Amino acid sequence: SPDPFSRAEVRVDLDHLRHNLALLAGRAAASGAATMAVVKADAYGHGAVPVARAALEAGATWLGTCSLAEALTLRAAGIQASMLAWLDPADTDFTPAIEAGVDLGLSNAGELERAADAARRAGGRARVHLKIDTGLSRNGCPPHDWPALVKAAADDSAVEVVAIWSHLACADEPGHPSIDMQASRFEQAYEVTREAGLEPMRHLANSAATLTRPDLHFDLVRVGIAMYGLNPVPQPEDLRPVMTFRSSVVSTKRIAAGESVSYGLTWTADTDTTLALVPVGYADGVPRTLSGRLDVWLDGKRRPVVGRVCMDQIVVDCGDHQPEPGAEVVLFGTGEAGAPTAREWADKIGTIDYEIVTGMYRPRVVRSYA
Ligand code: PLP
Repeated sequence: SPDPFSRAEVRVDLDHLRHNLALLAGRAAASGAATMAVVKADAYGHGAVPVARAALEAGATWLGTCSLAEALTLRAAGIQASMLAWLDPADTDFTPAIEAGVDLGLSNAGELERAADAARRAGGRARVHLKIDTGLSRNGCPPHDWPALVKAAADDSAVEVVAIWSHLACADEPGHPSIDMQASRFEQAYEVTREAGLEPMRHLANSAATLTRPDLHFDLVRVGIAMYGLNPVPQPEDLRPVMTFRSSVVSTKRIAAGESVSYGLTWTADTDTTLALVPVGYADGVPRTLSGRLDVWLDGKRRPVVGRVCMDQIVVDCGDHQPEPGAEVVLFGTGEAGAPTAREWADKIGTIDYEIVTGMYRPRVVRSYA
């Protein structure tokens, strides 16, 4: 760790990230598509700038962010790649996007007008990706408004329609009927776009569709979770988890059978045992709801965390093993040799691994890169 006082560390393995991105970009390239690395939410908690650089080295040619501010942060770091930002509040001034050459994902006439106005003010053209809502019902233009949106964009010389795009609701359930239904609406939207005299790029696939539906790669795929090494589909893939969350043993103590541990005294030792104290808790991203269900990897073995997860500490039952102070404790990581994974945490607390890794950026947690 670069910080000798760090109590907890998120270790980001950029070699794993490059491996995953190369695998995904290879699949995309096989169907003639380019690859966008999705680095929104600080690259799903992995750090947007280092991740963006590594992804570009490994074959991505586009970067995708949610907010314009996220894209501008990448530009400020000197990253020149094509970039798309797709969701900002209704009063966002798009002028910085025009000035920085950031493409805008737009879903309605109001947004188009704001982008065109900003382009006229900045003396440039707004590069836009018009989003069609094919069934997810979040942002995206409803099909009945699509012809008017496309026509307005085609008629405005301050606007360049770079792409049309959409997002899938159930790509992580291969064979789900909504996938083909959304793809068919997407094709219809493209026909309408061509009738308006435009022939922009198309993009639809997220990680799951990139892995399972080469027929939906179109010109560009947008990969997030699989680039971070977390497999969104049931079939096995050679993806390597990028994030490891680790801490270390502060101290150990022996307790006698019958002694209990942590707030509420919810766990009682059956036999005399050694407890290891680890200085990481729910303030550092360990969900308290994992109390009684959490294991860590310590000295080559999976060992149970006993009693409640506290704000700043957890207690590991080591039995007759005596760890040294400073011994590494892996809370989740690559899962090698049976160590816990982010997916395991997610399954236990009823969420998805996206939420686990994205939530690990905390003030006391040091992030470092390998
Ligand atoms: N495209 C859009 C519009 C998204 O919002 C996301 C992430 O949620 C992605 C692509 C990447 O999805 P995934 O992380 O499942 O690959």
